[in-house]
Amino acid sequence: MFFLPPILLHYYITYRCNCKCCFCDIWRLSPTFDAQVAHVEANLNHARRLGARFVDFTGGEPLLHQDLPELLVKAQNRGFRTSVTTNTILYPERAKELKGKIDLLHFSLDATCASMHDHLRRAPAFEQVLISLDIARQIGETPDILFTVTPETISFLPLMVKLASSLQFILIVNPIFSPHRHHRLYEDNLRFIEKFKKYPYVYINTAFHTLRRQGGNQISKPRCRVMASTIVISPDNQLMLPCFHRRQLQIPLHNNLDEIWLHQRVKYLAWQGRLSVCAGCIINCYFDPSFCYKVDRLFFQSLSAKIKYAFVKYALRKYHLLRQPELRPTKAILAEINANHLHEATA
Ligand code: SF4
Ligand code: SF4
Repeated sequence: MFFLPPILLHYYITYRCNCKCCFCDIWRLSPTFDAQVAHVEANLNHARRLGARFVDFTGGEPLLHQDLPELLVKAQNRGFRTSVTTNTILYPERAKELKGKIDLLHFSLDATCASMHDHLRRAPAFEQVLISLDIARQIGETPDILFTVTPETISFLPLMVKLASSLQFILIVNPIFSPHRHHRLYEDNLRFIEKFKKYPYVYINTAFHTLRRQGGNQISKPRCRVMASTIVISPDNQLMLPCFHRRQLQIPLHNNLDEIWLHQRVKYLAWQGRLSVCAGCIINCYFDPSFCYKVDRLFFQSLSAKIKYAFVKYALRKYHLLRQPELRPTKAILAEINANHLHEATA
């Protein structure tokens, strides 16, 4: 399905971050300056012409980019669906200017207690997530809770499911893809996660699990379609190939993304998934769009997860809110969930 246009513009608008998560090293990167509005605008125009429908403004922490609301409006005005994932440290002060500008807003939360979340984030972020969830509820935003599952955090999954269900926000269960052995998930972890697949407010894309069970991407028969599906741009206005995490080539852009990308795509399509670094690759952000580019088991697993997501987010949630809105602050809901858990564990 190489004839399909790219679906996603994966735009690194900053490498700066106010966390130093133990499973991430983006915050160590340079440049330490952010993407310029004029460059983003030009690249949005080109990406749209190439056929991209989604733009993910990512980082680093995207809310550190002072012009983020303007970038989002420019993207929406060009017909993009926008997505942003934030650690929420800045959300309380920026929520009003961002309202309505992010179609898919994700709040990162790694545990139901401050000690674990802040330990992993290496920053006092937990309280900000709870405050941000309340602000989002007050202003009518519907963030998803992005739960990155590691061997350290997997035991929080049942409590995270309860929290998401109480708030009627979707819990995105994101299996960690760090190459470090101590962060790796194994078969028993995957089976445990899948027990929660049928819960309404839980998004589990089992295509990621199948890929892991197959040993990740195979160089001899690659499943990666990053060059077909995704355009990746750095804060200093360079096209990164074939993907951000294993970039081999960075090409400076001069208002010519469409020309460069089409040329490089033809030239390097054969690269995707075939480099030595691609052996066993399970990088979620590139396999998610890649799943759409070949009709196989992974395609159908991913599609069914997305259909459920859309149904819960846009239909079921509205129905539940009409009947039984939860009005208590998130902190109170979470305290009750944690207390019940403690009670059950000691009973
Ligand atoms: S908040 Fe995101 S970008 Fe920042 S260190 Fe953590 S994972 Fe990396
Ligand atoms: S490193 Fe992973 S995402 Fe990047 S090209 Fe290779 S298989 Fe694809």
